[in-house]
Amino acid sequence: MSPEESNTDCIFCKIASGEMPSEIVYEDEDVVIFPDINPLTPVHLLVIPRRHITSLAEMSDEDTTIVGKMTRAANQVALEHGLAENGYRLTINSGADAGQVIFHLHMHLMGGRHLDWKH
Ligand code: AMP
Ligand code: ZN
Repeated sequence: MSPEESNTDCIFCKIASGEMPSEIVYEDEDVVIFPDINPLTPVHLLVIPRRHITSLAEMSDEDTTIVGKMTRAANQVALEHGLAENGYRLTINSGADAGQVIFHLHMHLMGGRHLDWKH
């Protein structure tokens, strides 16, 4: 990956590159999926683009296809984690009011119990 596609201070770039260890459950050319370090649900994974994109707010036109790839990979992994029957949630937090704390675009893939709205 070229330097401008990765951010040396970004923890999720480090996980995607293997510099920081994580129990990666899925990876391909564009997408990486790994467990959230502080799981809020029985299944709580993070779906990221390999390429550093700060947030939804910073996406360019050429970034739009990556979101489709992330959702397809997330669905595959959700099924592999037994979530086909009861379903799951994909969430993207963007900006301060949504509580975004890591500024590398990510989807939370959550499931394994009933989820009330927001919880
Ligand atoms: P957000 O509020 O959407 O930015 O969520 C960031 C998520 O990243 C939180 O749920 C954290 O628990 C999770 N997180 C932070 N650091 C790590 C890490 N090193 N590995 C896995 N998950 C992490
Ligand atoms: Zn990054």
